[in-house]
Amino acid sequence: MKNRTLLMIPGPIEFDPAVLSALGTPTTGHLAADFIEEFGQALERMRQVFLCPDGQPIVLAGTGTLAMDSAGVNLVEPGDKVLVVNTGYFGDRYGVLLERYGAQVTHLRVPPGDRPALDVVEDALQNGSFRLMTVTHVDTSTGVITDIKGLAALARRYNVLSIVDGVCSVAGEELRMSEWGVDLAFTASQKAVGVPPGLALLMVGPRALQAFQARRTPVSNYYADWTNWLPVMQAYEGRKSSYFATPAVNLVFALNVSLGQILQEGMQARINRHVRLSQACKAGIGALGLKQVPLRPEYAANTMTAPRFPAGINGAEFVSRVGKAGVTLAGGLLAPIRSEYFRIGHMGAATLGDILATIGAIEIALKESGYAFQAGVGVQAALASAADA
Ligand code: PMP
Repeated sequence: MKNRTLLMIPGPIEFDPAVLSALGTPTTGHLAADFIEEFGQALERMRQVFLCPDGQPIVLAGTGTLAMDSAGVNLVEPGDKVLVVNTGYFGDRYGVLLERYGAQVTHLRVPPGDRPALDVVEDALQNGSFRLMTVTHVDTSTGVITDIKGLAALARRYNVLSIVDGVCSVAGEELRMSEWGVDLAFTASQKAVGVPPGLALLMVGPRALQAFQARRTPVSNYYADWTNWLPVMQAYEGRKSSYFATPAVNLVFALNVSLGQILQEGMQARINRHVRLSQACKAGIGALGLKQVPLRPEYAANTMTAPRFPAGINGAEFVSRVGKAGVTLAGGLLAPIRSEYFRIGHMGAATLGDILATIGAIEIALKESGYAFQAGVGVQAALASAADA
């Protein structure tokens, strides 16, 4: 039997066949003319996807956590005060990471599903003499989206650098880096950017670059040090070869294909599609009587949905039943509520058909779990939402 399980977790996602076939092209040397051209083009396209015409793109072989590390170690110096706008697991991770580099970290924490209000953040910025603020755009552990436009404006007002963890948002959620004044944003290839795991993608805005150039202490991580990487990125973009460490040649080929597809769809059209798919998914989940982790509808991301299990259902068994019905979903991640919810990813190349298949599989699993509902009501609501959009 063919493996036809649909992968609907919040990354890695289902990938487009053209992207996957780029991974299988014969590997060239990293100094070959066609690789130089593809890498150069990918760097140019990244600026358009991050909506940051004056940014410096950096592509590293690694995952989203390396992107967090790269931004952190290059911008933080021992003793710097950092404010972490914390909406879940990845805010916690950023705090630990930055402390490793000597930062004095203050977390603005909230109960699961909530997000720190702008006036609370402003209060902290006003009183804290922070050098840096980190925000997770979509915390994948809660499905909560933050108001990056509002937060970045506050950071500007108090002359604090803003770092956005866009791992679960870039190329799926609206993120206007330059227009909103975000100083650095990053993502990983396996999410809405639509490339198998293995690339960390950063966009360093002008203020962040200046802050890096004005460092008083050396960067305490050799591999991640931008001193090594900036000349390489600049060379490839100028269609010249350069070497610091071997780039992930085939992943870069695949990245260029995916970025080309993203730009062909158009950023606004792509964001709108993610909104429509998210609404259809959430309509289906709601019609089945399931609540969500985000405490308010406007806190809920468009790249994923985090439904709570109905009372009396064994979560692990339920997720496994959805899997047997043909759709792979993720369980909970945030420790205090881990067993209370599950997660659906709907980003990148996801379609309405994928959403309908997912809600259908959830209905099958709910029925098998003995949950009482009217069969088909979730799928119908998802369809109706898509028809209205
Ligand atoms: N930040 C967020 C918001 C994420 O969702 C993830 C991955 N789920 C990461 C950081 C870390 O990325 P990776 O697993 O690729 O290291």
